[in-house]
Amino acid sequence: MSNLRFQAILDSQKRERIHIEEKGRRSELFGVNVFNEQRMLQYLTKDALESVKGAIISGSKIDRKIADQISEAMKGWAISMGATHYTHWFQPLTGATAEKHDAFFDLMPDGKALEKFGGGQLVQQEPDASSFPSGGIRNTFEARGYTAWDPTSPAFIYGTTLCIPTIFVAYTGEALDNKAPLLRALAAVDEAATAVAKYFDKNVSKVNATLGWEQEYFLIDKALAYSRPDIILTGRTLIGNAAAKGQQLDDHYFGVIPGRVLSFMSDLEKECTRLGIPVKTRHNEVAPNQFELAPVFEEANLAVDHNLLLMDVMEKVSDRHHFKVLFHEKPFAGINGSGKHNNWSLATDTGVNLLSPGSTPMKNLQFLTFFINTIKAVDTYEELLRSSIASASNDHRLGANEAPPAIMSIFIGTQLSRVLDELEGVSQGKLSPEEKTELKLNVVGKIPEILLDNTDRNRTSPFAFTGNKFEMRGVGSKTNCAKPMTVLNTIVAKQLRAFKKEVDLLIDKKGLKKDEAVFNVLREYIKTSKRIRFDGDGYSGDWEKEAKKRKLSNNKTTPEALQIMTSKESLALFKSMNVMSEVEVAARKEVELETYILNIQIEGRVFTELVYNFIIPASIAYQNELTKNVMGLKDIYGAAHKKLADGPLNIIEKIAEHLFELKKKTDAMVDARKKANVMTDSNKKAVAYNEHVRPYFEEIRFHCDHLERLVDDRLWPLAKYRELLFIK
Ligand code: ADP
Ligand code: MG
Repeated sequence: MSNLRFQAILDSQKRERIHIEEKGRRSELFGVNVFNEQRMLQYLTKDALESVKGAIISGSKIDRKIADQISEAMKGWAISMGATHYTHWFQPLTGATAEKHDAFFDLMPDGKALEKFGGGQLVQQEPDASSFPSGGIRNTFEARGYTAWDPTSPAFIYGTTLCIPTIFVAYTGEALDNKAPLLRALAAVDEAATAVAKYFDKNVSKVNATLGWEQEYFLIDKALAYSRPDIILTGRTLIGNAAAKGQQLDDHYFGVIPGRVLSFMSDLEKECTRLGIPVKTRHNEVAPNQFELAPVFEEANLAVDHNLLLMDVMEKVSDRHHFKVLFHEKPFAGINGSGKHNNWSLATDTGVNLLSPGSTPMKNLQFLTFFINTIKAVDTYEELLRSSIASASNDHRLGANEAPPAIMSIFIGTQLSRVLDELEGVSQGKLSPEEKTELKLNVVGKIPEILLDNTDRNRTSPFAFTGNKFEMRGVGSKTNCAKPMTVLNTIVAKQLRAFKKEVDLLIDKKGLKKDEAVFNVLREYIKTSKRIRFDGDGYSGDWEKEAKKRKLSNNKTTPEALQIMTSKESLALFKSMNVMSEVEVAARKEVELETYILNIQIEGRVFTELVYNFIIPASIAYQNELTKNVMGLKDIYGAAHKKLADGPLNIIEKIAEHLFELKKKTDAMVDARKKANVMTDSNKKAVAYNEHVRPYFEEIRFHCDHLERLVDDRLWPLAKYRELLFIK
């Protein structure tokens, strides 16, 4: 075993469980670090409280004087909690979060020290944002960016810093982040869904999109992680021979959580609880060392913030426990990768889940309305929805042989399919009283029973209805949920708006009753959105063929998937729903392409380092030992050595063959990279990286992994899968 590897393994074995003393019950700890309503009641004047609530509920502006009061209260609370700094916490297009800390402390002109944090600092900050990707927005407009307070997501204290969730925009108004478009999409879906919900209940005045994400991740020992340049620089193992044992015994899934991991999890959950992240379930996942954490669902904007915060907290807590947490979608070949299911629904301010059937036929018709409109929206914009989860790392799942496929389809189960089939048969125009009764009693009326017993779940579907919500399963474990949530809510908003128009027209012009009009329009939607419904095996080759016939997109790689973002239809969609201007969409596509290119480029460089500085030297060292052995045998036995040295000679030759190919392919990959690097058009460059650079990775890996099998374990410089993957 090489020294580095040996030391890392030794270190990992020395690890002990860190005992975290739990003080107080979870429920008592919940949100203690959050400036939530309870704290606001305590610290804010009535005016200020009303103003914040108004901003949260209806997006009304907070006046500057009130902002001063709020900042004063926030500061008082934060300092009492031991905070020394504040930061605007935002989501630049890199996908992570960013922060710039400023001390509360300030010096007055007379040299006296003062704790300073006013309304101005609360509402707006100007980070030197020139290094954040802007997709050309800043170049075009020569504009600087600023961050602005988002009162819908409460401020919180992390460590000794008061964090204020903000949007990040250019002075010309373009959003430079992932949060601003999300907030606009949520406003759009609120408006459209409220208008439709009023058909069924006049008291509805607001609809919130809800999101419950399920975060999958891997944990590996920190010392072992740091012994591998690929894990540290790319978040995944670029090479590595599969361990003799992987996940084939299914002994990890929902198994007993290893002690070291459990203490990490309790520590993590405690931190999350203080931050108001309602974490609920934890369990082992399918692959060894793979785990999942899921919270109770929340309003989508808050849920997105909480997911980003969680990932950040996980990095920090895992470090304390001598772990490295991996959010990459495919850290290890041959075992499952990680995703982040996005469970989504719509909830009214009257406390109703619009994707949950109720006790009366009218409530069930409401359910069907939102259910079918969502199906129709996904059908119309399936390719755009696919683009929202595209990334270099997620390409290892979508489009590879991993859950779910790159083809968007919706699973609703056999029973609901039957309901839709029956609705499809409804006659056009006015319904006879008998037809209405039949519909209400025997079709719509049966929905609640059906859903109670909705056991036929399909694990291969990328967009599945699971009883009272849709579950979008293609989202990558690393992905900022804001991206798919922006698209999903925008397309559903657009669809609901169109639906309302059609229904109103039938009522006004054709004199149809409301429920008749609704049935009529839904029936058409069922007919025209059939191709998106698929209940079979999403992994099968047959489905791929069938999907092609149905003209569903099948974009397996990021450069292909991103193209739809700037199609005429997509640009018109975002513009008409007030979510993003053409410039904002184009900028995001540019940033996604750039990010893709950079990720593949970094992987290419790390491959070169691994091959030249690790694999080739180790293989040659072993080859030399074998050669010495053969020469020794020859010295002793003369011509007779050939037979005796058959084994070592054979290994020497095999190593030589792999080394020859390995070097050839690595050099060819470097050449391909050079060619791609001189390209200036990011579309072409991304395609070049995808088609000419990336294909070498598998080939290079093939030879590295074979060499790992041949070379003496003592000489192998990198931690192996069996060492990385089985934490005790
Ligand atoms: P699973 O899908 O693993 O069987 P559940 O059905 O209990 O588990 O829920 C999974 C996730 O769905 C949880 O994170 C939960 O918060 C979320 N969820 C449940 N109801 C809703 C809803 N109405 N809107 C959004 N997310 C929801
Ligand atoms: Mg799930």
